[in-house]
Amino acid sequence: MSMQTEALLIKNPVAVMSGLRGESARLGKVDLRVRNGRIETIASNLDARADERVIDASSCVVYPGWVNTHHHLFQNLLKAVPSGINANLEEWLAAVPYPRLARFTPELARIAARLGFAELLLSGVTTCADHHYLYHASGTTETGDLLFDEAASFGMRFVLCRGGALQAAGDHPGFSKVALKPETLDQMLADIERLKSRYHDGGDASMRRVVVAPTTPTFSLPPELLPEVARAARRMGLRLHTHLSETRRYVDFCKERFNQLPVEFVADHEWLGPDVWFAHLVHLQASEIAMLAETGSGCSHCPVSNARLGSGIAPAPQMANAGVPMSLGVDGVASNESGSMTNEAHFAWLVHRAAQGASATTVEETIHWGTQGGAGVLGLDAVGTLEVGKAADFVLYDVNHPRFHGFHDLAVAPVAAGEPSRVRYSVVNGCVVVDNGVIPGLDLDALRHEAAEGVKLLLAD
Ligand SMILES: [Zn+2]
Repeated sequence: MSMQTEALLIKNPVAVMSGLRGESARLGKVDLRVRNGRIETIASNLDARADERVIDASSCVVYPGWVNTHHHLFQNLLKAVPSGINANLEEWLAAVPYPRLARFTPELARIAARLGFAELLLSGVTTCADHHYLYHASGTTETGDLLFDEAASFGMRFVLCRGGALQAAGDHPGFSKVALKPETLDQMLADIERLKSRYHDGGDASMRRVVVAPTTPTFSLPPELLPEVARAARRMGLRLHTHLSETRRYVDFCKERFNQLPVEFVADHEWLGPDVWFAHLVHLQASEIAMLAETGSGCSHCPVSNARLGSGIAPAPQMANAGVPMSLGVDGVASNESGSMTNEAHFAWLVHRAAQGASATTVEETIHWGTQGGAGVLGLDAVGTLEVGKAADFVLYDVNHPRFHGFHDLAVAPVAAGEPSRVRYSVVNGCVVVDNGVIPGLDLDALRHEAAEGVKLLLAD
């Protein structure tokens, strides 16, 4: 698959959502012209030019491409593992990913990544931040490189959150049995430097970013190394990402061990700021929400995974109201069983209304979290909205189907109706990456066979 930026005219859509908040969320029935990877014009009744490809959008609604800010691509070969399907987080970690970490050869990691990118693209994701933590002292670092390769072959905008641990996480049940020797700080930082020089582009519409992302700040490294890691990232001009406050047990551990709430703990170790975002943030005190808002530290809200593992419901409306930068992530599909951002947004819209009442959130706000909000926490300022001059990243959802007939407002249909969404076209950086419902050049039968072989190799506990 080779990606080429095209001159495009998206003609006659049913509706266009902008990714912006409030009154600006809807653009109506406007055409979009794309040149050199950017949106050149948004206006009604644009006439086609001789050199441009016209895409008939008359059965489609147009969304900015979803920005998935927390994922674990390797988990695409670990969906619905029986010993973890009804487990809580700690049991699930011990049963599903941890015993198999050392078994992910580069070849298996590649198959998992290809499955993941295919599903993400076919649900409308155009940017993916992958929290990749398959690193240990004697393991290969080439899986990070192959993720960039595969992202490029699918045309996905890609952020590698380079994870890993600097201490054996004996406090996490299950991990102590794994007996993988953790990397040293020098090993981790040397690989991040290498990845940065080879791949990182800090531009506002960058296709490739590197982020410094130890797996958790409490379990994965000794506290005295947290500021060192943060300072190294800031010296290199890289962002910071990690898991935080996913379960009650996580909060209790932090209080018992460090006598602090998790956000207080990371604040004391230089891990707050507009260059930091955290996955989950399920269990927070009001004082912690205020600290996140004051420092501009962001959240990757993963409501499906949090529900699936029984971890709780993050106070996302409270965070958003306080001014915490919000985004959506599907988390790993071993604790979600879906990599679809449409599914995630659908659930995010519903769950807070169920828990807190109908004023908790709106469809438009949920779409904003999953698009402009996501681009914001990643620092991709030219991404996430449909506006003139912004990167041409968008999705055409086909609504010519009985399940969408009868809608008074088709603009909200993909999120309000949930899956199955029907992506007819997807465009990233001006390149058509889903063309008439198909990922060009991708052999789905071959991928299915590879996945089946991969599952066989990972079957035993
Ligand atoms: Zn995660």
